[in-house]
Amino acid sequence: MNLILFGPPAAGKGTQAKRLVAERGLIQLSTGDMLRAARKSGTELGLKVAGIMDRGDLVSDDIVIALIEEQLDMNKGAAGFIFDGFPRTVPQAEALDTALAARDMHVDSVIRLKVDDEALVARIVKRFQDEGRKDDNPESFKIRLGNYNKQTAPLLPFYSAQGKLAEVDGMADIETVAASIAHVLDRQGGQNQAGKKSFWARLFGG
Ligand code: AMP
Repeated sequence: MNLILFGPPAAGKGTQAKRLVAERGLIQLSTGDMLRAARKSGTELGLKVAGIMDRGDLVSDDIVIALIEEQLDMNKGAAGFIFDGFPRTVPQAEALDTALAARDMHVDSVIRLKVDDEALVARIVKRFQDEGRKDDNPESFKIRLGNYNKQTAPLLPFYSAQGKLAEVDGMADIETVAASIAHVLDRQGGQNQAGKKSFWARLFGG
């Protein structure tokens, strides 16, 4: 089961991804976390992306695609992946499909967490108080939200056309959002099982 958690900054993707890791044994691949780790350890990559991240802009597609491919290869045989904060552009989404296909995998589900802009602002203010992330300030947030609307939201029709998109009310409390996500995943798991049965039934006339 490979799943994309989709939504604007502070929609709750990271929080929900961590729950799915604990509950379903999936591996969370957050490009934001990977880039922050690179900065913290002072690597060349970290130095290169620091200014871009603080400003709220997107780092180049090549960089994040390489990070994801590296993780896919480091976690061969995993039960599945949760992509958190990736893909964020159409070229990233296309590269993800190619990278997964090359490893005999595909995206099963894209779950969009829908949250009002006003609620996002309130969450960013709180997260800055709790975690002190440099890009959780009003100027950077405006740029991040603008980039989401311009570059990331166009992925919604891309995944909708593939029949993979499900929407969840991300305004609800954490438990309710988690339950809605579980519902989507379990329903989809059931459909996959039913699909398998009908395949064998067709083959053997059962
Ligand atoms: P996040 O933690 O997902 O909000 O990411 C923090 C910052 O890392 C973003 O504002 C971007 O500067 C950068 N970043 C994370 N993921 C991506 C991505 N998929 N594409 C481009 N930039 C990214």
